[in-house]
Amino acid sequence: MPRLVDPFQRTVDYLRISVTDRCDFRCVYCMSEHMEFLPKKELLTLEELNRICSTFIGLGVKKLRITGGEPLVRRGIMTFFRSMSRHLDSGALKELTLTTNGSQLRRFATELYDCGVRRVNLSMDTLDPQRFRDITRWGRFDQVMDGIDAAVEAGLKVKINAVALKGVNDDEIHTMVEWCGARGHDLTFIEVMPMGDLGNEDRLDQYYSLKDLRRDLETKWTLTNTTDRTGGPARYVRVEETGGRVGFITPLTHNFCESCNRVRLTCTGQLFMCLGQEDEADLRTVARNNPDDDAPLIEAIHAAIARKPKGHDFDYSRQTVSGQVTRHMSHTGG
Ligand code: SAM
Ligand code: SF4
Repeated sequence: MPRLVDPFQRTVDYLRISVTDRCDFRCVYCMSEHMEFLPKKELLTLEELNRICSTFIGLGVKKLRITGGEPLVRRGIMTFFRSMSRHLDSGALKELTLTTNGSQLRRFATELYDCGVRRVNLSMDTLDPQRFRDITRWGRFDQVMDGIDAAVEAGLKVKINAVALKGVNDDEIHTMVEWCGARGHDLTFIEVMPMGDLGNEDRLDQYYSLKDLRRDLETKWTLTNTTDRTGGPARYVRVEETGGRVGFITPLTHNFCESCNRVRLTCTGQLFMCLGQEDEADLRTVARNNPDDDAPLIEAIHAAIARKPKGHDFDYSRQTVSGQVTRHMSHTGG
């Protein structure tokens, strides 16, 4: 079957899938406290998720990242992981991974490993329990720490993702580097993005450029550039003192679009060809209208990839959040 190659000759072999818009946390930069979630019929069923993802794998997708919302709160989600593991067994899929807040890892880590998952990205912005509560609103720090332990015990490699927030966790960057280094976790800092309709907080005041963050890290640590890539947009440095790696995801100050190999499927079956653009393709309708024939789905996917834009328009430089997109990260999948 023809592979997915976009008009800029980028091969699309990485699919991120949001399997739910729901979450057991309410992180301040991601959700409002009183979120209204989608009715169940809007969501792709587990069977539809299986079908659409399997179609992508048939078209050459080699890496799946499951995200959300919180993927591990979706009922029956292990059935989906199980169904994807058959593609790992066949060799068609090279990596099955997830991004999680960690709250349910004690329950699922062993089963995830059993399904062929080897790495998880775990979002944690602070090592201070009270601050953790302030950022996540509903999260329990101890539960997440225990989840990390469970993942490590199960044999999963855990990478920590931290959103860098000025005036919130910028005083913890050294502690986080130290803690991750000591425990052998890679650490990736993410710039806060202007996502979602979060009232009048446009996040500009919390914007902490990773260029500044890196400079601040260098007051304490020796950072050596590496050429390491883990399939995503992060650039990594080695911290000589700890031997650990620190990554930077800078969607706003550094344009990594030229090497973008990914597309995103929302929990309602919309395919976004770019995180920062509104253009999408409605794969749910195509799938539901053609329950017994994959050809229209394949055609719709090819047509969507043919519209993948060159890059995104986020821009804080004019001190307004231009290029803001109004959908929530939890819907699109971070
Ligand atoms: N619930 C899971 C979690 O928190 O890891 C997966 C979904 S979450 C939307 C994926 C990632 O997006 C998390 O690392 C989170 O910190 C990040 N994120 C959410 N809102 C963001 C924003 N406005 N700017 C930057 N990153 C954001
Ligand atoms: Fe939930 Fe993840 Fe969003 Fe936090 S960042 S509210 S854990 S989906």
